[in-house]
Amino acid sequence: MIIVPEAAIADLMTRAQAFDAVEKVFASMATRRAYNFPVIREAIGHADALYGFKSGFDRDSLALGLKSGGYWPGNADKGLTNHQSTVFLFDADTGRCKAVVGGNLLTALRTAAASAVSIKHLAPEGAKVLGMIGAGHQSAFQMRAAVEQRAFEKVIAWNYHPEMLSRLADVAAELGLPFEEASLERIGAEADVIISITSSNAPILLDAHVTGGTHVACMGTDTKGKQEVEAALVARAKVFTDEIAQSVSIGECQHAVAAGLIADSDITEIGAVINGTAPGRTGSDDLTLFDGTGVGLQDLAVAASVVDLAVDKGVAIEVDF
Ligand code: NAD
Repeated sequence: MIIVPEAAIADLMTRAQAFDAVEKVFASMATRRAYNFPVIREAIGHADALYGFKSGFDRDSLALGLKSGGYWPGNADKGLTNHQSTVFLFDADTGRCKAVVGGNLLTALRTAAASAVSIKHLAPEGAKVLGMIGAGHQSAFQMRAAVEQRAFEKVIAWNYHPEMLSRLADVAAELGLPFEEASLERIGAEADVIISITSSNAPILLDAHVTGGTHVACMGTDTKGKQEVEAALVARAKVFTDEIAQSVSIGECQHAVAAGLIADSDITEIGAVINGTAPGRTGSDDLTLFDGTGVGLQDLAVAASVVDLAVDKGVAIEVDF
């Protein structure tokens, strides 16, 4: 069995490799060669923690396994990240445990890769202004991955806690992009691509805010009850997702579906667009929306990739198990 500790991931995995792994697995999901198992997420009644599993199997790459972890709100006081996760990979031919891989950085990279894949396939070609809603841990990863997909000239951003926006200002400065704090109205009117990555439980971006041909990547809603955009905006958009079952149950689409504004059949899996079996954006005026719920197969894809890299570079830790 191979162990790749959390601390080793940063030197192994690049954004390009994460992008490639996630784009491939979305494509496999759309052909039903890869599928996710139902998500388990439980409040365990200890340490105020939410704990769960995301798992699946990809018959193309033979990635089989699970990501286990969750949210421990008291961790920050212990000098630890509140979100904790570990990926376990199994040999699809024997069921033996193949690898244990630190999942914290990988989660950020695979989540940013998902919205970047959506931008590649759905955003207006000439997108110039990137709008960011959210300035937490994930947001910096999101921005770095997004700017690799279009020739953005500016970043405008809003956050519920405005003092956190300095994180995004620093990343924009590093990337050589002008950065401005902006109202939601301005983001909706000016941005060609909007990424939302917050832990909000109520709509932030409203239907009336968004004008013109925009691509909105909703990345924060990954649990029942969370919501970042108004259901009417989802209903007006051409909607794409990583997986329809998750989108309508724990993703941004849960609210539009519950309100009867859209049905499962109105949602297209992004893998079908990648494979060329479903249309994506059909014109520069389209409003496209990607509901990135975060699937277990993304975790398995990037973890499998990191194990290969660790073996190639001779840094994999091998143990008898
Ligand atoms: P974080 O705790 O570092 O940041 C939270 C963000 O949400 C900040 O921008 C904060 O200002 C904002 N926020 C907090 N309370 C809010 C409120 N009441 N209304 C509006 N905004 C509020 O979290 P993070 O690690 O950056 O994660 C952000 C979200 O992304 C979380 O909901 C997390 O579960 C989700 N996430 C999704 C995926 C996926 O695959 N889709 C993967 C990882 C994380």
